[in-house]
Amino acid sequence: MLPRAAGSPVARARLPSPRRARVAHRAVEGIMTVIMRLLVTNDDGVHSPGILALKKALDPLGEVIVVAPERPRSAVGHAITLHKPLRLHRGKMADGLPAWSSNGTPADCVTLGILELMDGKADLVVSGINHGPNLGWDVHYSGTVSAAFESVMIGVPAIAVSVASWDDDIRWDGLARFAAKLASWLSEHPLGPHTLLNVNAPNLPAGELKGIEITRLGSRQYVDRLIKRVDPTGRPYFWLGGTLLDGQSEAGSDVHAVANGKISVTPLQLDLTSNAARADLRAIEGL
Ligand code: MN
Repeated sequence: MLPRAAGSPVARARLPSPRRARVAHRAVEGIMTVIMRLLVTNDDGVHSPGILALKKALDPLGEVIVVAPERPRSAVGHAITLHKPLRLHRGKMADGLPAWSSNGTPADCVTLGILELMDGKADLVVSGINHGPNLGWDVHYSGTVSAAFESVMIGVPAIAVSVASWDDDIRWDGLARFAAKLASWLSEHPLGPHTLLNVNAPNLPAGELKGIEITRLGSRQYVDRLIKRVDPTGRPYFWLGGTLLDGQSEAGSDVHAVANGKISVTPLQLDLTSNAARADLRAIEGL
């Protein structure tokens, strides 16, 4: 548990007022009015093409501040930096646009962005666009999704966005536009507390997408997770990875939606409690 200072700017984080939300909705249709305060981050690093596409698509909604790791930090999960100084640098994105970068993790970037650069007054955090899927159980490893979780912990709504493909040739712009539409929609229809949206999309041209599906988290199990080899000096080394187990694509899940050409939108919450097990375990209280 992190010690958090009493009276921190957390309490000041809030949703946009209804009036601000209406203006935000018009802004995405093309009428330029500065309203929402958005923080953009990722785990692929500040120089990645995905975060640039996202920033450009969100710009019409208002003020967009980018704070991202100075180098790729995929699969760091919800790690935070406690034992060394955290730094913020003025840097540039892939096309030279100004952005903040940090030596910290994606979750650190969210904290720095909201509390240091935005004085707690962020309306929404958008994390991505990640190059690669963040589906099913893999969200627990994801720096992209964890940045969004850090945001909802602080009290700011959040979206995580990933393109579910490792291809080199990614169609960033269509997904970035969808993220902007979703951000605008959320400004008028806020989610409950401590809930975020995890978006995954296939790497398809807009005309080939089969629509949008609200999903639940699927399962992602791997085989051959640990590979053992021997280095040239004769010592063993290990490589984590593995191959996805087939047959995990249950209807209604994020995995299934993306496999069927749809954009998957999964609401995720911080509360990991198993209520089924809680009921079953009541007997323990009498031991
Ligand atoms: Mn990544």
